Amino acid sequence: MTVFNQERLLFTPVNPENNAIPLIFAFPNQYTIGITSLGYQIVWSTFAMRSDVNVTRLFTDIQEPLPRCPELLGFSVSWELDYINIFNLLETLAIPLHSKAREDYHPLVFGGGSVLTANPEPLADFFDVILLGDGENLLDSFIDAYQEVRQANRHTKLRHLAKVPGIYIPSLYEVTYEDNEGAIKSIEPIEPDIPKIVQKQTYRGNTLSASTVVTEKAAWENIYMVEVVRSCPEMCRFCLASYLTLPFRTASLTESLIPAIDKGLKVTNRLGLLGASVTQHPEFETLLDYLSQPQYQDVRLSIASVRTNTVTEKLAQTLAKRDTRSITIAVESGSERVRKIVNKKLSNEEIIQAAVNAKAGGLKAIKFYGMAGIPGEEMEDIEQTIIMMEAVKKAAPGLRLTLGCSTFVPKSHTPFQWLGVNPQAKTRLKYLEKQLRKKGIDFRPESYNWSVIQALISRGDRRLSSLLQLTREYGDSVGSYKRAFKQLRGKIPNLDFYVHHNWSQEQILPWHHLHSTLPNKTLIKHFQEANRYFPQN
Ligand code: SF4
Repeated sequence: MTVFNQERLLFTPVNPENNAIPLIFAFPNQYTIGITSLGYQIVWSTFAMRSDVNVTRLFTDIQEPLPRCPELLGFSVSWELDYINIFNLLETLAIPLHSKAREDYHPLVFGGGSVLTANPEPLADFFDVILLGDGENLLDSFIDAYQEVRQANRHTKLRHLAKVPGIYIPSLYEVTYEDNEGAIKSIEPIEPDIPKIVQKQTYRGNTLSASTVVTEKAAWENIYMVEVVRSCPEMCRFCLASYLTLPFRTASLTESLIPAIDKGLKVTNRLGLLGASVTQHPEFETLLDYLSQPQYQDVRLSIASVRTNTVTEKLAQTLAKRDTRSITIAVESGSERVRKIVNKKLSNEEIIQAAVNAKAGGLKAIKFYGMAGIPGEEMEDIEQTIIMMEAVKKAAPGLRLTLGCSTFVPKSHTPFQWLGVNPQAKTRLKYLEKQLRKKGIDFRPESYNWSVIQALISRGDRRLSSLLQLTREYGDSVGSYKRAFKQLRGKIPNLDFYVHHNWSQEQILPWHHLHSTLPNKTLIKHFQEANRYFPQN
């Protein structure tokens, strides 16, 4: 039995018409990862339900039988470092890496997903078309617009698609720089009738997405995923998951969540509730009550994210009964001042109470998630984190306690987009590790070096395309990026420019022409609110 035959579909694909558009929809990683992405599932099923599209799937390890002459090749990109796999797949399909080198007979290469919506510029040279924002209406608009120019040449197709809201055609925008190593001077469309600004699309319905396929080959075996909320109303100032997808939207309990859950639980007993802040759904308690009914007694429940002050004993009990042993909550820091900087509305008492409730409800472990190098953070804030972890350990003895910790990475469209990575984060992570291990608290740092690379791609511009290609040749390591920067010295800005420098708020950002929900002036206001708590003030 092939991997594809083991899938249980929760939608009905239609038979493609004779003249349907041959489309390859790729995930630039292995099947098990791709099929666990709700975004990938939804886009694939949207295409599969259109009779004018003949979609086939491609992963890095397996594929369906591909068309000989695809007209469209799409990528769902949800992890920055998968760009290497995009290059590999393009080469396997004998498609030039650079959009400008493609001919009429090559497919249009399009992409979407969180990485490209946040900042597509480092990958802009490799895509013909980028879809910005929620797929709900955008995918159909894209295919409908493509149908209108299907017989035209590449030049005409791209110009036509550029006029559809949310569709970005990178090659139709020219970026100029102050000098090779300097900031961006301007980003302008190359022709007067190409829109100056591309607005990310926002879906405003109250039916959110749910899995369209369940398979034991998924990374979370047999999971059925339901999107409970989209975005997060908390607006922590570093948080892409909140700012990029605003406004906060909640799925209707009766029209969306319950029907979706009933449908999914007919084929599996593993349910994942997804969203940046699931427990903030206004009817979350009712949802838990619904899942407590006897017919769902065997359901294994996973929750993507829990807000600290929503960890009640009841929630912990429900999760414990549903085979969940541990919960993860993001606290960011043990320092009240740092939490004010990032707008995390949370006190140490609430964090301690969450652990107490988790234990009382029968959970075995709690994982906190924090960051080092948050703007304005000082060594004494790190000490505060250690003190807080000790207090939690004392208040909930026997509960397995872990602190996962990453480095602050600036993200586009957030109030901290102008701030660089603090190089001291590396030492601070080491310090936390030493001190917490001494106290018997499990500490799991994320690699500082990879955070640097994430920041590079997060704030990169088009000049990075040559760097990414070189890096790939040198191998998949942080050292490869450094080597590539050395080789390109004088031709592109250095690593510090992209990663560590604080940028002026007047500077033209790489995503200047790609608008998200909030304008820069609002982000500046939010930054100024954070700035009130910086040490110099
Ligand atoms: S609570 Fe979590 S998801 Fe919400 S804004 Fe803060 S970090 Fe982002």
